Amino acid sequence: QYSGHEAWEQDRQHLIHPFSSLAVNKEEGCTVMAGADGVHVSDAEGNRFYDGIGGLWCVNVGYGRTEIIDAIAQQLRELPFYSAFNNLTNKPASALAAKLAQLAPGPLNHVFFGTGGSIANDSAVRMVHHYFNRIGKPYRKKILSRQNAYHGSTHLTIALTGPVYQHGWDGATDLVHYLSAPHSYRRPEGVSEEGFLDFLIQEMEEAILKLGPDNVAAFIAEPIMGAGGVIVPPEGYHKRTWDLCQKYGLFYISDEVVTAFGRLGHMFASYDKFGIQPDIICTAKGISSGYQPLSATIVSDEIFDVISRPDGAFYHGFTYSCHPAACAAGLKNIEILEREGICERVRKTGPIFQRTLKKLEELDLVGEVRGSHFMMCIENVANKATKQLLPAEANVGKRIAQNCQKRGLIVRPLGHLNIMSPPLILNEAQIEEIGDITHKAIVATMDDLTR
Ligand code: PLP
Repeated sequence: QYSGHEAWEQDRQHLIHPFSSLAVNKEEGCTVMAGADGVHVSDAEGNRFYDGIGGLWCVNVGYGRTEIIDAIAQQLRELPFYSAFNNLTNKPASALAAKLAQLAPGPLNHVFFGTGGSIANDSAVRMVHHYFNRIGKPYRKKILSRQNAYHGSTHLTIALTGPVYQHGWDGATDLVHYLSAPHSYRRPEGVSEEGFLDFLIQEMEEAILKLGPDNVAAFIAEPIMGAGGVIVPPEGYHKRTWDLCQKYGLFYISDEVVTAFGRLGHMFASYDKFGIQPDIICTAKGISSGYQPLSATIVSDEIFDVISRPDGAFYHGFTYSCHPAACAAGLKNIEILEREGICERVRKTGPIFQRTLKKLEELDLVGEVRGSHFMMCIENVANKATKQLLPAEANVGKRIAQNCQKRGLIVRPLGHLNIMSPPLILNEAQIEEIGDITHKAIVATMDDLTR
């Protein structure tokens, strides 16, 4: 019998974890996850937890969906894999591309499939660069991104990702110019939210003019920054940044890897919630609710018309682009989202989740609870008035996460922050229980810190 302890030890000795402090993993070992149902996960010891992070912002329809599992299994039996290169295709990939073209706003009618969000964003930039290369001068290359952005971990997308996550790495950063994060809570003292918004817009316009509009290809932005700390921009930010893209001929790439497929109560937050029409929408995670690795870069007719010209091929792809089993999972997942009205449901339960967590602001340790619907963050501080942080050694986010885990809830620690992105099917009683556990965990952490 393969035991939890054996997995724990093998992991410590051999596994390189994503997004982790490898030294800490080696030292402390990891919780071995072994099962899941509905909105819960369980470890190899049989402990059951609310999944407060939805796998990692992705298990939107929850666990144990036999329909998705059966669709994958059936596809694996019929055609487990075949490449879609050259003149080949397969039924689930074609059907999912058509479905996404139908759901995506306006002229976004063409879909490139990959296996994750980094690949989706990397592919978007490759298409934009190819577009400008093909239409001839000016060959615009620079991409505007933002501090605190998270766009992935490939060589290119870690460059699109804000310097906060680069830890001194400086690969393709010459392609990227970083603007300020639209982080209202941390805006300079004495500046109003409107004044801060004006500053952000002015900064973006000045950057375009300084770099030269003929050199700037695109602006990439998450509708709400996720891993950067669930940063909700000031009202009007999306529209005004989009306007600048129109004015200077930049493509607008919306990184909806986290926000699409219901997390904010809509299929696509950029268009449906924030009212802008991107030229490219990048998705992953919730597109298959994590049942299979899958991403989709959805591009406009204008871009497709150029990259599909007969002269000068757009030579880009991955072995597992259009993977039939992954696309079958995506199709079934979207069918469930639509059939169960999950977006509508999130528009009702999301604000309840928000209000429940917002109450945590009554605690001394909690500076701000922010976010929207099922994308939330708790910012912990040493002093609420000055917003000063605790020393990094206090490990406040990690302590709170550990105290939540002891009480049956997984939340994500990120420095001094705790992030929550649960499955979208939580009911009101479960939301209340999660709020209660988090409250108790923060109180326990305050006790730990004063001891
Ligand atoms: N974009 C955003 C907004 C993300 O949150 C992530 C991952 O968390 C990515 C891109 C990268 O996705 P992946 O880890 O699937 O490559």
